[in-house]
Amino acid sequence: MNTQTIIDCLHAVSDAIIANESEIEALDREIGDGDHLINVKRGCSVLLEMRDQLAPLSVADAFTAIGTKLLGTIGGASGPLISSFFIAAGKVLKTAPASQSAAFADAFAAGVEAIRNRGKADVGEKTMLDVLIPVARLLSRLAEEGSPLDVVCAKTKDEAQRGMLATKDMIASKGRAYFLGERAIGHIDPGSKTSQVAIWAVCDKLLAVPAQQI
Ligand code: ADP
Ligand code: MG
Repeated sequence: MNTQTIIDCLHAVSDAIIANESEIEALDREIGDGDHLINVKRGCSVLLEMRDQLAPLSVADAFTAIGTKLLGTIGGASGPLISSFFIAAGKVLKTAPASQSAAFADAFAAGVEAIRNRGKADVGEKTMLDVLIPVARLLSRLAEEGSPLDVVCAKTKDEAQRGMLATKDMIASKGRAYFLGERAIGHIDPGSKTSQVAIWAVCDKLLAVPAQQI
């Protein structure tokens, strides 16, 4: 994976968030406070503006720069959480070759672990972690098995979708939806939806990039 691919993925995520904005906004209006889409879109536009600044950096340094920038720009609960993902993932990529899929699986897992530590949440609490934790586990397993990229992307998309849909029947024990108690049942968590949309966009972009350029 090179930095240009990371930049291409940021564009793809931003486009996908915009393509799904009415659904994301509706979800956060139902069980959040209605700012999640604004927070995420602000993060996307700030990252796209960083394009020229990111281009000469190593993948590890690009991740660190993304995380540092997001900390000051996305508000809400999700800002510091997403920021911590990139900072922790960048730290792993500093010592592991970004060309290896195992290094990316490790970096993703470290990023998710950082969100878990910061948010003090786990699977089953109706948050973005219901998508991110199962996907991190899957990526580690597939990297160990040496699965090819097309298989990794297809299975990752399925797992992200499954995790996102699973939040529908949960009661939240973290985030603003916690205050709704059983009234949150029947609504998908907005952060899990944005996570799924972002993961799908990255997978689709990686499948579209010729192998030697990834
Ligand atoms: P806020 O809740 O402060 O308004 P956002 O609307 O930007 O922030 O983000 C809400 C999303 O953040 C939720 O849908 C959920 O997925 C995620 N979230 C909230 N609290 C936590 C937490 N403690 N750990 C992990 N994710 C969380
Ligand atoms: Mg909110």
